[in-house]
This record gives sequence, C-alpha cells and structure tokens, in this order.
Amino acid sequence: MPELPEVETIRRGLEKYLPGRRIAQVEVRLPKLLRNCDPQTLNEDLQGKEFLQVRRVGKILILDCEDWSLLVRLGMTGQLTFRDLHLPDQNSFTTHAITGLQRAQGQFSPDKHTHIIIRCQDETEVLYRDIRQFGKWYLYSTQDLPQAPELQALGPDPFQPSYTLAYLSAQLAKSRRPIKVVLMDQGVVCGLGNIYADEALFIAAIAPQRAANSLNSEEVGRLYQAILQVLRQGIANRGTTFSDYRDADGLRGGNAHYLQVYGRAGQPCYRCGAILQKMTLGGRTTAWCPHCQH
Ligand SMILES: [Zn+2]
Repeated sequence: MPELPEVETIRRGLEKYLPGRRIAQVEVRLPKLLRNCDPQTLNEDLQGKEFLQVRRVGKILILDCEDWSLLVRLGMTGQLTFRDLHLPDQNSFTTHAITGLQRAQGQFSPDKHTHIIIRCQDETEVLYRDIRQFGKWYLYSTQDLPQAPELQALGPDPFQPSYTLAYLSAQLAKSRRPIKVVLMDQGVVCGLGNIYADEALFIAAIAPQRAANSLNSEEVGRLYQAILQVLRQGIANRGTTFSDYRDADGLRGGNAHYLQVYGRAGQPCYRCGAILQKMTLGGRTTAWCPHCQH
C-alpha cells in the first residue's frame, strides 16, 4: 500500500505534468470509486478546468483544478500515471540504452484495470489503474475542501509545521496501545503505514509492542527524528515497490533495497546479526529485531 513517500513521489511526478493542462473529459469506468459524486457530475464540473497544482496530505493526493479539487486515496493498488498520446506506450518495464545511459520508460495504455481516465485538451491523459479497487475518489469545491471529513480526520503530516516533538509526546502519553499501532493511526500522524512504521521503530531502537505511553522522553525524541529520517529516505529513493506501486512515469521505486526490517523477518539483522522476528500488531505483520529494539 502506498505510504507517504510513495504518494509524495507520485505527487512530484504529476506536478511535472499537470499544472497548466486543461481537462477535456473525465471518463469513469468504475463508478463505485467515486465516493461523493457520480461520473456525470464529475465530468461536468471538471470539463474545461485547468490543473493548478498537485498537493499531498499524508497518503492523500489533492489535484486542484480551478474551483474544484479531486481528493484521491490510492488504497492498496491504485496507480496514477501520465500518458502523452504523441509518444509510444511501453507496456512492459524495458530498459533501453540511450546514449550510454540506462533509461526505463513506463507509459502505459489503458487496460481492464484502468478505471478512470482524465483526458486533457492537448492529447495527454492521467490514467487511474487499480487492480483491487480499494481506491477512493472525492470531488470538493475549493470552498468546501478544508472541511472535507477525509482531511479533518487526519493528524499532522510529518512534513507540516504542526508535527512537533511536543505534539508527538502528548499523543503518545495518552495511549496504552502498542506504539506500532499508534504510529499507523492516521488521526495521530498521517502518512505512516506498515513499512515506514516498522523502519522508524528499528531506527529508534524501540520494540513495536511497547505501550505508547511507556516511552520515555529520550525514546520519543529518537522516534520523532526516526520518522522523518525513514520518510526522507523513502522519498529520496522514490518510494518502495514490492508489487503494484509505480510513480507517475510508471517506474518502480528504489527504496526496497534500503529497508532494515520490513519484509525481512527470518533474516539476520543488518546491525547485530540476530534473526529478525515477526508478530501481528493491529492486524498487520510486524518485523523487528529483539536484540536491537527494546
Ligand atoms: Zn539487531
């Protein structure tokens, strides 16, 4: 599932392409993805509108189109890619040698999993592909957007000024839930999921099953920094791809090679050599090192 670094990578990719382009038509092939409008209304409201900017809050993407905003949750397998109809599609991930540089291309044609197509007036498109169909789209007027329940429910994004050490300390002090579960609660801090919560706890040397309110101030300080560190690293590597995640250019993320514990249970810890363990917390598989994390 895309977490903050993956969604930020998609945002940066779309931000290269969308601003200034004008929408000709929005085709919704799977209406259930639209949570607060129907395909006809969406198309009518967005026709002729210009993309202004692409924003992100936690794992939510916001596509601003003049007086309307599309709010997109990618769910488990949502992909948003850009397609220029003047260029050939590359439906498999091929690597070409171009003037000595290895360059991958990944512009796709729509397929049976492509459920929304935003067509622009200059013969470019944004394709929304979602194999498991857990994605959710919302349309809000610019005026109503700040009150959108999907945004109101979120705690601070770690890259917003409201994410402070004092804030995190106060939130953790209030909860007896396992620290891993609290980190994945989007109402506490938004953007972390299973991958980056496991990674942050390893970097901070904190056992994931500890009650959140049992952390002392030194541990909370380490965790506060570790969260920023793993997210920045994930963004620098353009996200983590295991299966479905792609950036706006259709490319895989490179962060999987840098993960310390996530997905590595049963393998030796890079730091101490002990075998990494797994357990289930909040319904999610958690990987950790019993020797390094206390
Ligand atoms: Zn270890």
